[in-house]
Amino acid sequence: LAAGVVGPDGTVHSFAVVPTRRRRPVEEILADLWDLGHRALAEADATAAEMFAVGIGSGGPLDARRGVLTAPAHLPGWRDVPIVRLAAQHYGLAARVENDATAVAGAEYRWGEGRGLDNIVYLTVSTGLGGGAVLGGQLFLGAAGNGGELGHVTIDWHGRRCPTCGRRGCLEAYASGTAIAERAREQMEPGSVLAERAGELTAADVWAAAQAGDDLAGRIWAETVAALACGVVSIVNLFEPDLVVLGGGVTRSGAALLEPLQRAVADQAMGPAAAAVRVTLSSFGERAGVLGAAAVGYLAG
Ligand SMILES: [Zn+2]
Repeated sequence: LAAGVVGPDGTVHSFAVVPTRRRRPVEEILADLWDLGHRALAEADATAAEMFAVGIGSGGPLDARRGVLTAPAHLPGWRDVPIVRLAAQHYGLAARVENDATAVAGAEYRWGEGRGLDNIVYLTVSTGLGGGAVLGGQLFLGAAGNGGELGHVTIDWHGRRCPTCGRRGCLEAYASGTAIAERAREQMEPGSVLAERAGELTAADVWAAAQAGDDLAGRIWAETVAALACGVVSIVNLFEPDLVVLGGGVTRSGAALLEPLQRAVADQAMGPAAAAVRVTLSSFGERAGVLGAAAVGYLAG
């Protein structure tokens, strides 16, 4: 859970984080979330009355129009939680919720790499793989706020089972941090440096081992980049965006991830789409979620 006070120019005046510990009752987690909001206000030396609105970004599925988290995949046991009404009541402010990656797309448009551009796609390559878009200068929401689930673009229709949606061969099933660690674990041989980490293996371990010259980690990494490139090329063909911006923990690998993606888009995307698009990394870092929520907040009220 993260909260912050963000000014209209995108300045983050405060930023507070606590672990969700998601296997707790809904009410307990919500109480922590409201407390975190108050902590962010106190750290910014501000009061709720001085705020414009409360913006919320959350993983879906959600119903953004009704302001309800219907069944968020990352929060087991949450059903039809009217998060917007509850937040509005708690703080006495207007409130709005959107899908978290869609929200960050809005923040990239307003304050980040997408300033001055009309069509931008944001991808977060993290524990999961989320996506969102701004098209024609507007957040792309879909019918109920779940449009732009770009992690579930199929890159291999006979491929790996996607843990989130249940279909086969989703981009998320290959390139998310969880999928990177899982693929490494499946292919691990005795003697690999990865074997030492075994159960606790993360995508960051795979990346570190690949850099250190470990063969298996190198293969896993190359496959990850190829999978991501396949998805990004399809996404570029689909939207013909001005910009694709990538964030999330996996993108800390920097140029080693970005440059092959840029090459793949230049070589494989449709001509006009390849010519129009810039592919780059987000500069938001760990504050992406809070900036996204704030961009949603400025659309509320
Ligand atoms: Zn999927």
